[in-house]
Amino acid sequence: MKGQFPLDKFLNKETPFYYYDTALLRQTLQTIRAEAGKHDNFSVHYAVKANANPKLLNIISMSGLGADCVSGGEIQAAVNAGFAADKIVYAGVGKSDWEINLGLDKNILCFNVESIPELEVINELAARKNKTANIAFRINPDVGAHTHANITTGLAENKFGISMNDMEKAIEAAAQMEHVRFTGLHFHIGSQILDMGDFEALCNRINNLQQQLETHHISVENINVGGGLGVDYLHPNRVPIPNFKAYFDTYAQHLKLRPGQKLHFELGRAVVAQCGSLITRTLYIKQGTHKQFAIVDAGMSDLIRPALYHAFHKIENLSSDGSCETYDVVGPICESSDVFAKAVDLNKTHRGDCIAIRSAGAYGESMACQYNCRKLPQGYITEEL
Ligand SMILES: *Cc1c(COP(=O)(O)O)cnc(C)c1O
Repeated sequence: MKGQFPLDKFLNKETPFYYYDTALLRQTLQTIRAEAGKHDNFSVHYAVKANANPKLLNIISMSGLGADCVSGGEIQAAVNAGFAADKIVYAGVGKSDWEINLGLDKNILCFNVESIPELEVINELAARKNKTANIAFRINPDVGAHTHANITTGLAENKFGISMNDMEKAIEAAAQMEHVRFTGLHFHIGSQILDMGDFEALCNRINNLQQQLETHHISVENINVGGGLGVDYLHPNRVPIPNFKAYFDTYAQHLKLRPGQKLHFELGRAVVAQCGSLITRTLYIKQGTHKQFAIVDAGMSDLIRPALYHAFHKIENLSSDGSCETYDVVGPICESSDVFAKAVDLNKTHRGDCIAIRSAGAYGESMACQYNCRKLPQGYITEEL
């Protein structure tokens, strides 16, 4: 399955770089639109932190998705890429004043508020502008997701969100404030979730919370269930598009929406992971005593997921059909954790071969840094090559 890469067009490019298959991205967006569109009142936002490359943001905004931002910089990037401000939601435990002011100036759809002190600051800053900020409370639903501990966000003791016990107190506090308007509840239980039972558990929790609020005559316009749908890192060729049908159907089936209530989603990884690959070149083959290393010119500064969470990415040698050999694929950075994969089979590789590290479109380029005074990797879309 190397035919899907325009290898001839890679040869004159300086490596490492990210390559984004825009045909796949567009197909993915079309699937999201079709599957979400089967349900009334479903509204999908793209989680910008997964990949903020302006060229991708532009394609995603044109497909009609809203944006989910976690910083002022992301709000600015979303607006620059053409996302309508009234489709932008803004979450984050530590919103600084300039970021809140930017959200107010742009008239974004909603601030997802994570504490009462934050609510007070939003109210105060909105008052100075004589505005009213739409807010939702991010509630910590104490639903565990079956995923890596570092990307679970919905458990009780977690820096994110407001505990369920404090939910009504927070809603009452908002009701006392003149410059915020309570419009909904927000949740996000984690990332790379493939077990629909986890989302079902979230639905059940939300159903209970809604019932509890209704006994106190509190109604909610919007429910936002965050993101978290995972992708198949083992089989990027066989499963290039995640099962959006099962995902949206799970919510349609298990979440009891009230008449007129809108359901919002914030998908990041599922939108962009599979369309992106990190393209790197083999620099050296180094023979160890019991293994051999393929030393490549990309490192953890370009793609940190393997070093940060032992994430698996499929690796392919695009330049060779030679018989497979086993390699540890490592980067040039001065850290022992700068390893992309241990003991993987690759077509026999030589200096200069093009290597693709697959499923790298999400949390790849957006997490790149300049450690070791390295250059940031470029990101190219199909049309630019
Ligand atoms: C990161 C994040 C998302 C997106 O998560 P994915 O797993 O990439 O879908 C959605 N909502 C919030 C609040 C987030 O922090």
